[in-house]
Amino acid sequence: MRTDARDALLALLELTSQLTEDRPLEDFLRHVTDTAQKLIAADHVSIRLLDATKTSLLCGARSGTGAGDRPMDFKRGEGVIGWVVDHAEALRIDEVAKDPRYKAMPQTFAVTAMMAEPLWAAGEVIGVLSVTSPDAAAFGDEDQLLLRLLASCSSPAIDRARLKRLATFDDLTMAMSQRYLYPKLVEELERARRSHGEVSVLLMDLDHFKRVNDTHGHAAGDAALRQFADRVRASVRRLDVLVRRGGEEFVLIMPQTGPTQALATASRIREATATQPFELTPALKIAQTVSIGVATWDGAESPGELETRADAAMYEAKQSGRNRVVVSPRPSQSGPLSGPPDR
Ligand code: GH3
Ligand code: MG
Ligand code: MG
Repeated sequence: MRTDARDALLALLELTSQLTEDRPLEDFLRHVTDTAQKLIAADHVSIRLLDATKTSLLCGARSGTGAGDRPMDFKRGEGVIGWVVDHAEALRIDEVAKDPRYKAMPQTFAVTAMMAEPLWAAGEVIGVLSVTSPDAAAFGDEDQLLLRLLASCSSPAIDRARLKRLATFDDLTMAMSQRYLYPKLVEELERARRSHGEVSVLLMDLDHFKRVNDTHGHAAGDAALRQFADRVRASVRRLDVLVRRGGEEFVLIMPQTGPTQALATASRIREATATQPFELTPALKIAQTVSIGVATWDGAESPGELETRADAAMYEAKQSGRNRVVVSPRPSQSGPLSGPPDR
C-alpha cells in the first residue's frame, strides 16, 4: 500500500462522492484510475470497458506512467485483461514474463507485476481495472483487496454512465442517435438566442449509397458509414455535434458558426469524402461522395424550420449532380449567401 489507512479512507470517500455526480463516463473512469494510483503503489493504472458488441475492450482511462501513450485495446480473451473478462476472475501476477496469459505490447513503460480486477454490473463483467509496476514485489494481498474495493464501489456509477452513453450514441458510427437531434437543436438555438450567437447545421447524405449495399453487401455499407463518421469527426471542431439522422444521413450541428465557416467546413467534409477512397476491407476500396446542405439559423426560426432549409439545400445539391455543397439563403435575405455551389 502506498498510503496509510486514514489517507486511504479519505481518498475512497472522495471518490465515492465524485461518483454520485452527474458526470460523463470519461470523468468517472479517470477519477477511479487516479484514486487507484494514489492508493496503490502502481506505476500505471487503466480501465478498459467492453464495447457495444462485447468483443473488444476499449481503453477508457489511464493514470500514471505512459498515460499519454497511444491507447491499446484488447480483444476478448486476449492478454491478461482479456483473460479476466473471459474467466470473470481477478488476477495478480508477480512476473508477467513467466505467465503465458500475458501479451507483451509495444509500450513506453516496463511491466513486471500486474493486478487486474473485473468490473461487474447486473451479473456481467463490463470491463477491467488493472494496475502494473516494474517491481515484481509491488503488490501484496492488501493491494489486491483495495483494487477489488475500488472496482466494486465504482462499477455502479461506471455502468450508469456507460448505459447512458450507449443510449445516446448510435453504436455503428458513434454519432449521436436521431432522437437527440431535436433536443440538441433546441438547446443550441436557445444558447445562441441568449448569447446573440450563430448556429449552423449541415445536412449530409451519402450519394448513391444503395449501390454500395447492393454491390458489396450490408456489412461493407456499414463499414463505409463508420468511415464517413470518422472523416467528419476529423474535419470538425470538438464542440460540433454529429447526429445520425437515419440510414446514410447525418446532421452536423455547429454552435458559434456563421455561414462562411459553415461553408468552409462543409467543403472540407465533401473533399475528405471524395478525394480518398473508403477502405471497406483490406481488399476492397470504393469511391464515395456526399451531398451537403448548409443552413445558418436566422435568429427566429424553429429547429424544424432550420432543418427543413438544410434539407432543401441538400436536395438541391443532389439535383444539381451530387458531390457538392449548397448553402441555403437565410429567409430574411434575398438570394443565396454563396455564389455557385462549391465543387
Ligand atoms: P442518393 O444519392 O439519392 O442519396 O441515393 P441513395 O442510394 O444514397 O439513396 P436512398 O435514400 O435511396 O438509399 C439509402 C440507402 O442507404 C438505403 C440502404 O440500402 C442504405 N442504408 C441505410 N441505412 C443503412 C445502414 O445502417 N447500413 C447499411 N449498410 N446501409 C444502410
Ligand atoms: Mg438518404
Ligand atoms: Mg443517399
